[in-house]
Amino acid sequence: MTGINITEIKGIGPETARDLEALGIKTVEDLFEYLPYRYENYELRDLETVKHDEKITVEGKVHSEPSLRYFSKKKSRLTVRVFVDRFLVTAVIFNRPYLKKQLKIGDVITLTGKWDQHRATIAATEFKKGRQQRSSLIEPVYPVKGKVTVKQVRKFMVTAFQQFSSLIIDPLPQALRERYRLVDRVSALKALHFPLNYNQLKQARRRMVYEELLLFQLRMQAFKMMKRENEKSTAIPISQEDVDYFVEHLPFPLTQAQKRVTNEILADISSPFRMNRLLQGDVGSGKTVVAAINLYAVARAGFQGAMMVPTEILAEQHAESLQELLAPHDIVVSLLTSSVKGKRRQELLTRLEAGEIDILIGTHAVIQEDVIFKRLGLVITDEQHRFGVEQRRTLRTKGDNPDVLYMTATPIPRTLAISAFGDMDISTIDELPKGRKSIETYWIKHDMLNRALAFVEKELKKGRQAYVICPLIEESEQLDVQNAIDVHAQLQHYFKNFRVGLMHGRLSAQEKDDIMAGFKENRFQVLVSTTVVEVGVNVPNATIMLIYDAQRFGLAQLHQLRGRVGRGDEQSYCILIADAKSEVSQERMRIMTETADGFKLSEYDLELRGPGDFFGQKQSGLPDFKLADVVHDYRILDTARDDASAMVRSKAFWKDDAYKHLRQFLAESGVLNKERLD
Ligand code: ADP
Ligand code: MG
Repeated sequence: MTGINITEIKGIGPETARDLEALGIKTVEDLFEYLPYRYENYELRDLETVKHDEKITVEGKVHSEPSLRYFSKKKSRLTVRVFVDRFLVTAVIFNRPYLKKQLKIGDVITLTGKWDQHRATIAATEFKKGRQQRSSLIEPVYPVKGKVTVKQVRKFMVTAFQQFSSLIIDPLPQALRERYRLVDRVSALKALHFPLNYNQLKQARRRMVYEELLLFQLRMQAFKMMKRENEKSTAIPISQEDVDYFVEHLPFPLTQAQKRVTNEILADISSPFRMNRLLQGDVGSGKTVVAAINLYAVARAGFQGAMMVPTEILAEQHAESLQELLAPHDIVVSLLTSSVKGKRRQELLTRLEAGEIDILIGTHAVIQEDVIFKRLGLVITDEQHRFGVEQRRTLRTKGDNPDVLYMTATPIPRTLAISAFGDMDISTIDELPKGRKSIETYWIKHDMLNRALAFVEKELKKGRQAYVICPLIEESEQLDVQNAIDVHAQLQHYFKNFRVGLMHGRLSAQEKDDIMAGFKENRFQVLVSTTVVEVGVNVPNATIMLIYDAQRFGLAQLHQLRGRVGRGDEQSYCILIADAKSEVSQERMRIMTETADGFKLSEYDLELRGPGDFFGQKQSGLPDFKLADVVHDYRILDTARDDASAMVRSKAFWKDDAYKHLRQFLAESGVLNKERLD
């Protein structure tokens, strides 16, 4: 059933059609899929089971003369005592003064409104004389705007179902529906628009959520399959012997997780398909070594590797550690940043093009036009979310479809990973090297700041360094900066014998790098910063992370910040200053003090704050689902992904009649023509 114009519905003329179009409703199908965002519940409730602030409907008997009070000509409040069951409650009705004359002691009335448990009062938004009389006790509430009203939508819905419900097509094969005991599509839609009870509503929702997520995953999986088949890249001949040799000569044994992800990545590199893989692992989980092994293997096979990082200081740091690991094996590692200029740069580029440099590390300087590789086989980007899609694409075009590995220390909860990065493969390091000292984390109230500062001073006197992260002001970078400046001034005054550096988002990249380098070289003992403080920068001598207004940060972000310390041999500390008032804030602070696992924290974050916070709504790669909620429906998402993946790989899917509608959906979505997935 496609494309039946909305005007075919009785009672909808061209004018109403225009109003409905503003809501995105053009066809009958659109109307059927225009779902309520909530339901009004008119089921009678027993007052004893009602919570404070809940909206309820009750029947009662008028017990007192109503009293009326005017605040102005139009504003009035009617108060009347009502017996509901055996409780005497107060009903308050605003701006309907005429009711005073209509209400007599002993009258039976039906009230709907918010229940104030403490005052035993109902603030009635709906009022009716007589008993509850409704054809339906659960009424859908639709999002509307313009001239369209909720009542109208309800009316059109009734007519639409009378006229056209027999034309609704169920794309789900019968077998699938039976497997999960899903109701058919007509019943599900009917129940969503005209629910008889909450259980029916739940079943309807479950069915539609599965359908929605299955269709989403079908596009993903089909796209992934097509892409894989179409994106050939050179199969780089990896020598397992070389790899083993390299690993044996590392200063430490690899963790199981490091071994596993290394194998996953090497398998991709040696396959004829282009790798498109995300490597995620908590701060300190040892991603750099994994990168080194792969770069080594690629170089040994006669190819070049490139690594792109967001800042100069990170580039230098990576170049240093990779040099240390790779130089003993005669692998040539070079660094290219914007500070490499003139003749030195020219020389480097010539050697790169001649293939004399095996591995090039750098900032976005490595994707400038005149940077030419001889035989680029592997590209790694660290903290991939910091690069734009365009930059990453440019990097890829520098070779003959080189394999690409993205590394990130921001663990993405599984649920988001499978949806947001559905067309990417994911490797996860879920284990830290043995013997890591955990970072002692404390949560204190603001009035204990002085004690915290005294503690910091004690550490400074031992020769350690401290980060101080400044209050985050929502939506105002300017205020963030001002805060950092203020705190910097205070601390400079407080720590008289130490030097206090300042870092914030208003500084240029060069200035930030300079300050960070100054901290690394211990020219500053304290670094006051907004959240721009570099991800991944290694200052082993820093043992304290002090965070002001910690309740304003997400758990994942707090964990990232905490990960700046604990990189040396000394015990490190993270102090969260937070006057967390709400229960959720307190819960979050408590979780921080108890959990050191970044994945767990990001799952909590997802639960407490929703997916938007992870990437910013736009970048999340998640479509606007009508019904599904990836946080709460993650089990269904998981199932749908497996089902979709199995389907597109099966022969039956591409020929059996049962899948005809799903195939048609894919054809219409453009995925089969390799059009972009957006
Ligand atoms: P990240 O994943 O945050 O980039 P790094 O790669 O910087 O982590 O590793 C953090 C530290 O742990 C480095 O000093 C590194 O040498 C060390 N390391 C990595 N893997 C191991 C291991 N298997 N055993 C012991 N130390 C390790
Ligand atoms: Mg790292």
